[in-house]
Amino acid sequence: MATAVPFNVPFRTGSEHRYVQQVLEGRGYGGDGPFARRCQNLLQELIGAPRVYLTTSCTAALEMAGMLLDLQPGDEFLVPSYTFVASASAFMRCGAKPVFVDIDESTMMMDLNDLRAKITPRCRLIVPVHYGGVGCDMEGVMAIAREFGLQVVEDAAQAFDATVNGRPLGTFAPLGTLSFHETKNLHCGLGGALIVNDPNLIDRADALWQRGTDRTRMLRGAVDKYTWVTVGSSFYPTEFQAAFLLDQLEHVHQSTRERGRVTDIYRRELAPLFEQGRFVTQVAPPVSTTNHHCFYLLLPTEAERESLRRWLQGQGISAYTHYVPLHSSPVGLGLGNRAEDLPVTESAANRLLRLPMYASLASVDVLTVTDAIAGWAAER
Ligand SMILES: *Cc1c(COP(=O)(O)O)cnc(C)c1O
Repeated sequence: MATAVPFNVPFRTGSEHRYVQQVLEGRGYGGDGPFARRCQNLLQELIGAPRVYLTTSCTAALEMAGMLLDLQPGDEFLVPSYTFVASASAFMRCGAKPVFVDIDESTMMMDLNDLRAKITPRCRLIVPVHYGGVGCDMEGVMAIAREFGLQVVEDAAQAFDATVNGRPLGTFAPLGTLSFHETKNLHCGLGGALIVNDPNLIDRADALWQRGTDRTRMLRGAVDKYTWVTVGSSFYPTEFQAAFLLDQLEHVHQSTRERGRVTDIYRRELAPLFEQGRFVTQVAPPVSTTNHHCFYLLLPTEAERESLRRWLQGQGISAYTHYVPLHSSPVGLGLGNRAEDLPVTESAANRLLRLPMYASLASVDVLTVTDAIAGWAAER
């Protein structure tokens, strides 16, 4: 059957070509050029961070964060198992070992009681992940980090343009990361950013980002030629990506508004089924805004999730599960974890179903999805 409603369609403003054309007509393509700077300045302004670095991906930004914090073999870090691979693998590149934390089923995000219980003397870092564009309890995470003297890197890959208590996600911890992969709300094909909220980390971040050189100091006029000062890497994207991204960033409110329209229809049309307890969805903190990154249903059993998924598929509607928990993946098991170690993660991962969500999803197509779900519920 042809796909009637796809799961994701990457966001397009229709005007990205104007800035990309300017790159083609100019002389600099390699990166760290005028478009990268404009993206970084706009991001700094939008989220109120002292310094933002564009990167080739969120994965690269997380790797840069691990290097910046000088993680070492033997160090451990705390990360939810219910997340994308990069939240853990990026820090393993430094030799550090992940300790997986269970989630709270009402948010699908880190359970702070389990977080506290898993802290060991080798732990150096906490990696909270904001799921679906909703903020996890960052004030709680930061309080635990202060109590135990731990570093924090906020994986805000899905959370640009969302806030808790009026504060943008990605700005609570000393370091935060964003993704501009095409599956995220805004994108440049593949891209990301490292947010540096602790000004003390800026000099070293500059050098890592500049492939381990003091080129940024030269550009500022502090030295007359640049040289190798530390071990860095190539983290920044080309000007083509930065130009495409700048236009997308300038349309952030449109993206969030259109996705919000989709969420509102899901909530309104599915309200009777929520009331009947057929399924639940994510609970957001009281004073918060979401960017509507995803809309999911959490069903009572895996069998019901599969039944609904196949029902929708039969009508050409793509609905997806999400992460295979990292602790029970081949790498996770190889590190000595057992599937039963994180019971909430294991159970909820098998019962979650994400519905189609993208800015250009027509309201009538959202109704096609909700009608199909109502049809499924009536049959059972
Ligand atoms: C998408 C995502 C990433 C990885 O982003 P890339 O830009 O594809 O590297 C990391 N963490 C989370 C939580 C994500 O959703």
